[in-house]
Amino acid sequence: MTSPRRAPGGFPVVGIIGGGQLARMCQPPAVNLSLTLSILSESADAAAALVVPSAPVGSHLDVDDVLAFAKECDVVTFDHEHVPPEVLQALVDTGVPVHPKPEALVFAQDKLAMRERLTELGVPCPAWAAVRGEAELTAFGDVHGWPVVLKTPRGGYDGKGVRLVGSGPDAADWFAHGEVLLAEERVPFTRELAVLTARSPSGQAAVWPIVQTVQTDGICTEVLAPAPGLDPALAAQASQAALTLAGELDITGVFAVEIFEIAGAPGTAPSYVVNELAMRPHNSGHWTMDGSVTSQFEQHLRAVLDLPLGAVSPRATWTVMGNVLGGDYDELYPTYKHLLARDPGLKVHLYGKGVRPGRKIGHVNVYGEDLDDLRARARHAADYLEGTVTA
Ligand code: ADP
Repeated sequence: MTSPRRAPGGFPVVGIIGGGQLARMCQPPAVNLSLTLSILSESADAAAALVVPSAPVGSHLDVDDVLAFAKECDVVTFDHEHVPPEVLQALVDTGVPVHPKPEALVFAQDKLAMRERLTELGVPCPAWAAVRGEAELTAFGDVHGWPVVLKTPRGGYDGKGVRLVGSGPDAADWFAHGEVLLAEERVPFTRELAVLTARSPSGQAAVWPIVQTVQTDGICTEVLAPAPGLDPALAAQASQAALTLAGELDITGVFAVEIFEIAGAPGTAPSYVVNELAMRPHNSGHWTMDGSVTSQFEQHLRAVLDLPLGAVSPRATWTVMGNVLGGDYDELYPTYKHLLARDPGLKVHLYGKGVRPGRKIGHVNVYGEDLDDLRARARHAADYLEGTVTA
């Protein structure tokens, strides 16, 4: 494996395991911070491999690939949470700093471990249970109400690994694999929110304004920053809870907490429960690339290197992010040019991925003072790139 070329002046090499869009979006701030990124990439044409100076091809599942890669890095972090525990352990044993640490990362990898730990720490969660078969699921549903939200503890993303079941036998196919599953009450939430924080190894922490995430068919399609009309007490509690969690779990790097807002009885304040944790830059934080003084990607690099964190203040009253899903076409560039001409204030971030229907291929950001206008512009841009509107 050839060594990544360092910037002069003693600046470090940051290794990222996984060549997806999150690693790719670390490259612009890495350039500005004079850091060198090296990416362990699943293929030579992965989203990040196309833009970073060093992208050895290898598998995050192969301990030899990971160790050979890490030897050339001053710190190692992740594009995704799918590195298996034994590979993580071997990585830590080499002595290279790894952020987030495996002891923390497990709570983003395993939803059952996460629910157990959050419950121990007194963080509000949906009612939940580990269920080993139809009988235990039926017992849970009979107490907490049907339908039940059933989740595979590991490997889920974008709603894959989550389903609603109306009875114990409904889940027979999942139990057939012999896995212990996570059953949760179906929370009657009013909207989904996300709290994005960053924490460094020496304990400095920062929290961005809480955002609203809008999901369509299990995929986040729009983010409103900050969440409009959010109850200030709820915002303060949830921000504090995220910071406390980051400290208690010793999380390093960018850390996102997905939460459900629940309406209070008439005249009373809303409350929240925590849905999920992510320990890396997160889709709910893509707005920070244009809408915050420090983007989540820059902050993640600063945090894993234990550099002082950057300011997290917004650049405008509102920022709206729209995710761009692939449409049924090949040529993106002509569409892209039209969009830039139509809206000069629009920021389009594409991931260098081939277009496939439904595949996340980029996102757009717009920021300013008029939320309705920003939402309409972000929606139009995402729809236009997706090919569902043509003018
Ligand atoms: P993933 O790991 O795929 O992102 P999540 O646990 O975030 O899975 O669940 C995906 C979506 O399913 C959430 O965004 C939410 O809309 C819905 N969901 C998850 N858990 C619950 C719950 N307990 N009650 C109601 N809806 C839920």
